[in-house]
Amino acid sequence: MADKFDVIVIGAGPGGYVAAIRAAQMGLKTACVEKWVNKEGKTVHGGTCLNVGCIPSKALLETSHKFVEARDHFAEIGIDLEAPKANVAKMLEFKNSVIAKNVGGISALFKANGVTALDGTGRVVGSKQVEVTGHDGEKSTFEADNIVIAAGSVPVEIPPTPLHEDIVVTSTGALEFTEVPKRLGVIGAGVIGLELGSVWSRLGAETVVLEAMDTFLPMVDTAIAKETQKLLKKQGLDIKLGARVTGSEIKGNEVTVKYSDKDGEQELTFDKLIVCVGRRPYTKGVVDESVGVGLDERGFIHVDDQCRTSVPGIYAIGDCVRGPMLAHKASEEGVMVADIIAGHKAEMNYDAIPSVIYTSPEVAWVGMNEQEAKAKGIEVKTGSFPFSANGRALANNAPEGMAKIIADAETDRILGVHIVSQHAGELIAQGVIAMEFGSSAEDLALTCYAHPSTSEAIHEAALAVDGHAIHMANRKKRK
Ligand code: FAD
Ligand code: NAD
Repeated sequence: MADKFDVIVIGAGPGGYVAAIRAAQMGLKTACVEKWVNKEGKTVHGGTCLNVGCIPSKALLETSHKFVEARDHFAEIGIDLEAPKANVAKMLEFKNSVIAKNVGGISALFKANGVTALDGTGRVVGSKQVEVTGHDGEKSTFEADNIVIAAGSVPVEIPPTPLHEDIVVTSTGALEFTEVPKRLGVIGAGVIGLELGSVWSRLGAETVVLEAMDTFLPMVDTAIAKETQKLLKKQGLDIKLGARVTGSEIKGNEVTVKYSDKDGEQELTFDKLIVCVGRRPYTKGVVDESVGVGLDERGFIHVDDQCRTSVPGIYAIGDCVRGPMLAHKASEEGVMVADIIAGHKAEMNYDAIPSVIYTSPEVAWVGMNEQEAKAKGIEVKTGSFPFSANGRALANNAPEGMAKIIADAETDRILGVHIVSQHAGELIAQGVIAMEFGSSAEDLALTCYAHPSTSEAIHEAALAVDGHAIHMANRKKRK
């Protein structure tokens, strides 16, 4: 038997690495096992998020956005350029350098905080035992008073469109296209479909998104979702709703996709196809059955509100448990669990987790949307404000979008904030903080906002809840 630890974390994604650092900060002897290796065969920390998820996708979203700004919008504000060219190889090089900086940062934080990095595949073999199979196949068993499983998730694959070399790919392959596809198909108008569809569409790919559901972004407030759909369509994304993919065929370097919609059977041919129809927990084999940790039929590990599994001392966090598959949700669960192990009372507010889709403009929301609140029988009042009436948004040449606040009609408490705008992913933090503090819409309305700032649109939306937005025709007379 090798070393004994207070805590062993399995997986070094944003759930696991944050749990490990926090546990070490709390004075606990901590190890973190990670199996991911890079192209050079070296263990890398950061999981999906840093290697093939949040960070690389945002690097490509930013570069492709800047390219579109230069190509289509600089002339509008008085900057004349020769037609810019997209250098995909350089963009990938930039993205890879961003990944390298981020993953290197986590390994450095492990060292600085005294977290022992164990390279290899971890498996819980007893309620206090983790077996680690090194990259060379050698096995060692470690003891730990507490175990945190943060094994993450992998893309869902569907039988009609089996992956095929670099033609039919998941999000991971779509971060590596070495040239802009002429015709790009995307299956799923979810977060990944819209983000990666946008990247390649901006760089010139004719992009068709096939979405099985009839409703676009059902988790977002209907008014914001409609506005987003309109704006993305204007940018050239051809989003086909109610399109259920039924089959595909590879011929040479292209793929023909069959789908059915309200008009019957259809087919389209693409040079590349991205399958992004959701992710599934990556838990197969991570716990020996004899340990008694319960999993549901889809492979999610059963946990309570504080991420305790059915076995005392074993916790699970992040994408491999219930709740939204988001990096910040995984990290907050990591902090909560480390604090609980260290003997503190800790909990998490699952009602105030923000979501952001990094299209242009961005879509961001927290809490309930209007249709959801109404379905729950809650009487609501809402306030909306268009960015076309916000001075800073006009000066930024980014007047698209709107902000909407949903408040309880009786108590005025904020139930949700939904935004589509430039930098909505930054603006949403105001909604999250307001909801964490149990604020009313009036609390935001009575707050002094810097001018000129796009945040003023949130202020105006809060004022509009009672019909008193300043920079919009008022609906009500103040009593
Ligand atoms: P992961 O990040 O998946 O990490 C799990 C780690 O555990 C991996 O490193 C894996 O190798 C390791 N592991 C698994 N099993 C074992 C084992 N047995 N032994 C050792 N190690 C093991 N979320 C956002 O919040 N914002 C975004 O902008 C965003 N963009 C995304 C873009 C894309 C293209 C994708 C695919 C995802 C994106 N996500 C985003 C989702 C986000 O990446 C995940 O929610 C997040 O990474 C989950 O963190 P995690 O720690 O639970 O799991
Ligand atoms: P998703 O659940 O967001 O969207 C999948 C979409 O595919 C859904 O709209 C679904 O109706 C559709 N679909 C499913 N089967 C289909 C079929 N056969 N034909 C056509 N459409 C079909 O999943 P995703 O986009 O793959 O993202 C996976 C996870 O990664 C999400 O949970 C998300 O939270 C996370 N993620 C987050 C971010 C972010 O926070 N910005 C970015 C990327 C990914």
